[in-house]
Amino acid sequence: MIEVIKGDITRLEVDAIVNAANSSLLGGGGVDGAIHRAAGPQLLEECRTLGGCPAGEARLTRGYRLPAKYVIHTVGPVWRGGTHNEPEILASCYRNSLALAVKHGVKTIAFPAISCGVYGYPVADACALSVRVTAEFLSAHNGIERVLFVAFGDDVFQSWHNALVHLTNLTVRRSPDTGPGDH
Ligand code: ADP
Repeated sequence: MIEVIKGDITRLEVDAIVNAANSSLLGGGGVDGAIHRAAGPQLLEECRTLGGCPAGEARLTRGYRLPAKYVIHTVGPVWRGGTHNEPEILASCYRNSLALAVKHGVKTIAFPAISCGVYGYPVADACALSVRVTAEFLSAHNGIERVLFVAFGDDVFQSWHNALVHLTNLTVRRSPDTGPGDH
């Protein structure tokens, strides 16, 4: 089940929250700064042991003072006009984060809008891509029960909402082929 909510990801009582980190994994601004502040200094200590993370990949740490048990750090693409594999890298962020979550028995996971802040990815495109990639992943893998897309601002909320409505319409249109009892 995929849901869109508005709020602060650091407050959520889920098994894992995803951090839109930078490749050093040593903290930054935006959601990264908020997560480190809320988790406390032990998060940075664990991150120091990881040796960074390339764009598109993901790394897992504990959540320390966060209500969430784990933080999954992923590094989104910096938007450079769309011709530098930005969509592929962003899709990898979502897929690799979800795969790592499954590996650690995570059932509920929350994502911020990766790359939609200082990294400058066009918000509507990023939201459509994240919903598509996540829905594909969930239909192919068991284990995750709930995915929350957490919007901090109205533009992201609206874009994710639109993307989910679009996905629901596609699913409803497809359902007659999947047989009786499938709603
Ligand atoms: P990036 O460098 O990947 O662009 P940012 O942290 O700059 O990452 O922004 C990613 C998104 O996270 C933006 O839409 C921003 O508004 C949002 N954001 C910032 N703080 C929080 C928070 N506490 N909870 C959820 N989302 C947040």
